[in-house]
Amino acid sequence: MTFSDPVPALRDALRFSPDNVPLRLHLAETLLNRGEAEAAEPEYAEALRLAPENTAAKFGLARSLFQLGQFPPALKLLDALTQQSNPEAAWLSLHARVLLQTGDMTKAAQQFRKAAEQDESLKTSDLADQLAAVPVFGSVAPQSSDQSFAQRGEAIERPKLTFADVGGMEELKEQIRLKIIYPLANAELFKAYGKAIGGGILMYGPPGCGKTHIARATAGEIQANFIAVGLNDVLDMWIGSSERNLHELFDQARRNSPCVLFFDEADGLAASRSDFRQSDSRKVINQFLMELDGVEYSNEGVLILAATNTPWHLDSAFRRPGRFDRILFVPPPDQSARSAILRLLCKGKPVSDIDFDFIAKKTKDFSGADLKAVLDVAVERKLQEAMKTGRPQPLTTKDLTNAAQTVKPSTREWFSSARNYAIHANQDGTYNDILDYLK
Ligand code: ATP
Repeated sequence: MTFSDPVPALRDALRFSPDNVPLRLHLAETLLNRGEAEAAEPEYAEALRLAPENTAAKFGLARSLFQLGQFPPALKLLDALTQQSNPEAAWLSLHARVLLQTGDMTKAAQQFRKAAEQDESLKTSDLADQLAAVPVFGSVAPQSSDQSFAQRGEAIERPKLTFADVGGMEELKEQIRLKIIYPLANAELFKAYGKAIGGGILMYGPPGCGKTHIARATAGEIQANFIAVGLNDVLDMWIGSSERNLHELFDQARRNSPCVLFFDEADGLAASRSDFRQSDSRKVINQFLMELDGVEYSNEGVLILAATNTPWHLDSAFRRPGRFDRILFVPPPDQSARSAILRLLCKGKPVSDIDFDFIAKKTKDFSGADLKAVLDVAVERKLQEAMKTGRPQPLTTKDLTNAAQTVKPSTREWFSSARNYAIHANQDGTYNDILDYLK
């Protein structure tokens, strides 16, 4: 079998569809991967002009600029990219390389350390050798428990997402408005009645159903800062010094108020974590409660949201009034929410007249993340087709229904264990929502 050069076909296809961002990115990446950074750079730049928030375009442009020796503009792109929450290892490691070129060894070492935490294989890369001598870095596997929160440089975001970007979830949006948004907007009124604003909302439910997404959109909705923390990672990393670091984390949110502080994987606050020594676990939980209560330091302007897939393991002290006193079930999206999510996911993509309601009907039990996977499969297939024919075609209802058949709904597994808790650990009726849903 012989392979012909895909570049002319891609260029032809782009002539028909110059605004097709995935296609342009594909061309740019093909060029860059075969060492043609000079040709790739304008393609990435054009993709970024068409889709200014596209992270693949930003990263690709930064890679091209780096290869062309244009370090200052590459640095600017990577500074912004790695400020986002959950930056990818590849972004961080390229950032480290560019910083190294510009002489900022300390920051380079910090970024590399974060990249190596995600991708073990980097620990044996040339970059590890070059940075081994930098004091902040020390060894490739640093004692991160010594790192303060500020040194870890957790990203503070200013999300652009709002509730309009969240499909369905109307009841949850309303609860967040009532509990978090209105009190913040009417702080004076609450003060006048001597009512403290505080406490948080704990969301639970199957994975991929939009808990993180709605937390980020809450911040966007009120133009607040957003800090997302994966609590399990943080606690494990900070064993021994978790109390101090938890305090710093809350403090950072207070300094940047209004701020939504979002704790993902809140199951880390379980009553008895087997991987924590009992006393360590208790100390961290007490510290967390103190910070949450805001007795010593006011939490004014700090909105606390948390998410867990296993709320039944949470220490009951967190459930008291003024703490996580609202526990809200985030179910898999229903048919109309699935239709809304699909519509949102297709925004900005070349589509023909898609029957979103039909696809929503065919995707029962799919989470938001599953729907995203459906779209990824459909786009991937469309690109392959376009490369063969040289003509990009818009996505159709059929493409999406075919793609949906290749994705397995991921929420069923969660319900099979949740059902037991809802039946046997539901003294106060907290989990009635699960039982209602299962009916
Ligand atoms: P986990 O428990 O695994 O952390 P999660 O409940 O926090 O999952 P998200 O990470 O928020 O789920 O959702 C995964 C992706 O699915 C999001 O990045 C988003 O693209 C999409 N998504 C989920 N729900 C919605 C929704 N209601 N509207 C729009 N997009 C959604």
